[in-house]
Amino acid sequence: MLIAGAGPVGLLCALLLGLRGLRVRVFEACGSPQEDPRAATTHPATLELLAEAGLVEDMVRVGLVAPVFQFWDRPTGTLVAEFDHAVLKHDTAYPFVVQCEQFKTATLVLKRLRNLPNVEILFEHEVVDASQTEKRVTVTVRGPDGIASHEGAYLIGADGGRSTVRKRAGIAFEGFTWPERFIVLTTPYDFEARRGYCPRSYFADPDEWCNCFKVSANGPPGLWRTVFPTNPEACDEELLSDEAVQARLQNFFPSSEPYEIVHRNLYVTHQRVASAFRLGRVVLAGDAAHVNNPIGGMGLNGGIQDAANLSEKLAAILLDDAPERQLDLYDRQRRVVAVEFVQQQSIENKKRLEAHDPEVRARNLAELRDIAADPERARQFLLRTSMISSQRRAAAMTLE
Ligand SMILES: Cc1cc2nc3c(=O)[nH]c(=O)nc-3n(C[C@H](O)[C@H](O)[C@H](O)COP(=O)(O)OP(=O)(O)OC[C@H]3O[C@@H](n4cnc5c(N)ncnc54)[C@H](O)[C@@H]3O)c2cc1C
Repeated sequence: MLIAGAGPVGLLCALLLGLRGLRVRVFEACGSPQEDPRAATTHPATLELLAEAGLVEDMVRVGLVAPVFQFWDRPTGTLVAEFDHAVLKHDTAYPFVVQCEQFKTATLVLKRLRNLPNVEILFEHEVVDASQTEKRVTVTVRGPDGIASHEGAYLIGADGGRSTVRKRAGIAFEGFTWPERFIVLTTPYDFEARRGYCPRSYFADPDEWCNCFKVSANGPPGLWRTVFPTNPEACDEELLSDEAVQARLQNFFPSSEPYEIVHRNLYVTHQRVASAFRLGRVVLAGDAAHVNNPIGGMGLNGGIQDAANLSEKLAAILLDDAPERQLDLYDRQRRVVAVEFVQQQSIENKKRLEAHDPEVRARNLAELRDIAADPERARQFLLRTSMISSQRRAAAMTLE
């Protein structure tokens, strides 16, 4: 088995296949897992899958448990609705999310991989080409010692949004790119102690929506990440200067002191899904297969779910002579989740926060209030946000 990309999704595929005894070789262009602050929120449906690999306890140890999330109306500073995953206690063993930064999850997986002699990870090895015959797949890899070819039975493209594997396979990445970039500003300023925001707080605002959430970082008191949209006309320097980021945070919540900012970054945000997740012996997983805006924290969750689904099917094909058509089922199940659920929900989440029309805004906020006040509606809402309903939908699908 060959895997392009040692991000969290590629590494998890390697672990799940390696634990089943398959020989796996992973190629990673960089020298180590990437540490920039991206995914943190790990939803109940994903925790259920990670538990099978024995990862949840460690994620809780290095992350933090967040049972509740809130919606705020930023212009009036009022709390609109609070949702507690406790209503899912009969639906899942994990009625909470775990805020665990993705490089920590990747590092936990990497540690386990070091005990598996059948898994080899080649850092500083970039996949530059991929081709296949009926029986084998071949990748061309540029490493410190030059260019080399490697052969395997299947290739997983887990090489991120700009996936070389996807491009070399000629698979279209359908969708669109938002005109505005998102800025992430990370600060130790304790929004919970000073303002009462819970560790996952969403702010609706026609002028500037915000996501504000806490990660445990290197230990207490942790860090807060704020995510805002930016002016599409503005250049990096205008958006990232000390003056600009201070002004943005002071405008969000005025403080007598300047904010300490430990990280700042701009992200281009897309809504795209690969036209196929499988082409012969090449399969796509994670951001290589689908990308979405981060509101609701579903991108990596979808990627982890891909990894669990795909590893089970590949192991069944390679070890138990299951039919190759299992990979078509992977394609169907995971594309349905990506298209009909993650894309829809993440776009809806963004529209809800940024709505301009006063009537639409009022209706959105009233709806959230009503849902939160009705336990069964709240449960249905949380089954969706926690990705349980989409997992159930995929599990019920067959090839027929
Ligand atoms: C601001 C922000 C916040 C987010 N928050 C959340 C969240 O809370 N919850 C959530 O679920 N998701 C979130 N996401 C999305 C999440 O970060 C991604 O979905 C996740 O990184 C996907 O993991 P991956 O392993 O598929 O891809 P990546 O993390 O992109 O990893 C791909 C790897 O492949 C390597 N690579 C690339 N090309 C090659 C090549 N040719 N050869 C070899 N190696 C290659 C790269 O170096 C990289 O290590 C967020 C994203 C952003 C930007």
